[in-house]
Amino acid sequence: MHRVADLVADYLESKVQAYPVVPRISPGDVRRQLPPSPPAQGEPIDRILDDYHRVIEPNVTHWNHPGFMAYFPVTGSGPGVLAEALTAALNVNAMLWRTGPAPTELEELACDWYRQMLGLPPEFRGHINDTASISSLLALAAARERAVDLDVRRRGLAGRADVPRLTVYCSDQAHSSIDKAMITLGLGLANLRRIETDGAFRLRIDRLEEALEADRKAGARPIALVATLGTTSSTSVDPIAAMAAIARRDQLFLHVDGAYALAAGICPEFRQHMQGLSEADSIVTNPHKWLFVPVDCSLLYVRQPDLLRRAFSVVPDYLTTTETGVTNLMDYGVQLGRRFRALKLWMVLRSFGVAGLQERIRYHCELARQFAAWVEAEPGLELVAPVPFSTVCFRATPDLPPEHQDRINEQLLERVNAAGPVFLSHTRLRGRYVLRLTVGNLRTTPAHLERAQQIIRTAHSQALATYAP
Ligand SMILES: *Cc1c(COP(=O)(O)O)cnc(C)c1O
Repeated sequence: MHRVADLVADYLESKVQAYPVVPRISPGDVRRQLPPSPPAQGEPIDRILDDYHRVIEPNVTHWNHPGFMAYFPVTGSGPGVLAEALTAALNVNAMLWRTGPAPTELEELACDWYRQMLGLPPEFRGHINDTASISSLLALAAARERAVDLDVRRRGLAGRADVPRLTVYCSDQAHSSIDKAMITLGLGLANLRRIETDGAFRLRIDRLEEALEADRKAGARPIALVATLGTTSSTSVDPIAAMAAIARRDQLFLHVDGAYALAAGICPEFRQHMQGLSEADSIVTNPHKWLFVPVDCSLLYVRQPDLLRRAFSVVPDYLTTTETGVTNLMDYGVQLGRRFRALKLWMVLRSFGVAGLQERIRYHCELARQFAAWVEAEPGLELVAPVPFSTVCFRATPDLPPEHQDRINEQLLERVNAAGPVFLSHTRLRGRYVLRLTVGNLRTTPAHLERAQQIIRTAHSQALATYAP
């Protein structure tokens, strides 16, 4: 135990920063260093920890590194790490209130605390899933369940002449988890309408109206809209209020995917981007992304929890209990058993406090704005999207045809990441290759961003100098 505590403390306090963010290894290198078959007899824990230290720790991509600015960074903060250790010690499975009274009640409480922090009305009830992908899947299952006349729970969708195509609408920037939900729920990818976005990558309401009308004319039945609050590529925010008005008018279910950026909603000044949010039917946000809770922790808020129970509750004899008026978390989704994730959320909320969390979110957005200002001032680089939160999309713009520009940007990213101290990622916007930098790690300071700028500047001139069309 003591040695593990030391390994954790050394890693978080200093060692993580000494590693390159992405390990310099090739596929297969890790397995080659480990025996192919299990030991017949038990081994001493010290020897196992030696191998952990030698083979595992150096060969992870260091998501807890302050130079990790790719995708959406995460932070396993101190209180979150301690909570994970306590969770493992308790090893409780709160599928029913009876099998985990404190975990069940703490989950409801922590979700409600966070709801209050986000300024959401009290009718939203939250529960915790592993990922936003699962939260959005459950939300769309609730949307499908709301179409009572279809009786999908019992009759399914296949082999029925009485069910029209059921269509769902999101923007062309929506996350791939919405596609996966369509696949899993039997709604079909062809029935997900990806609506064109405007110049700032927000869903176009006029195009949404056209798609709804065309589908209805063709005999389809629209069931849900998915608005993204902070798209994965550029953190754009769809016009939620206008989508809510359409959802109300047409009796569609409105799900809001705020996996990353909704965390900024704890700061009142960011809620200007989020108007209409309170009118959603469901909202997902991941405290494991930008709220310093260790992976995994995704929160799904629903206005009518009854829809989830109607969609999913199945109680076999061996799971019946006698308590009344309690929540049995197994009723709210697909899985029966569940990790006790509320403890880490609760411990993080308590130890930072609302003001402490707001301060960090604001700081990250400020660092991102400073980086964006640097990009704008840097010759040969340009910003590709607005910066509403802490993500900056940018690219090099050499005087070459677009495909060559893309190649140079790809090479620029490779060079930046090969340097070691920072890790950025890429996306495509309007078909063009774009670099992405997000500030979201608790330990990221201005020094890390200055380092990123130096590395980008050097890599930029090298990429231009060595480019051979
Ligand atoms: C990261 C992300 C997701 C998926 O998150 P998981 O928790 O990994 O499933 C979904 N939507 C958006 C907008 C995201 O940024």
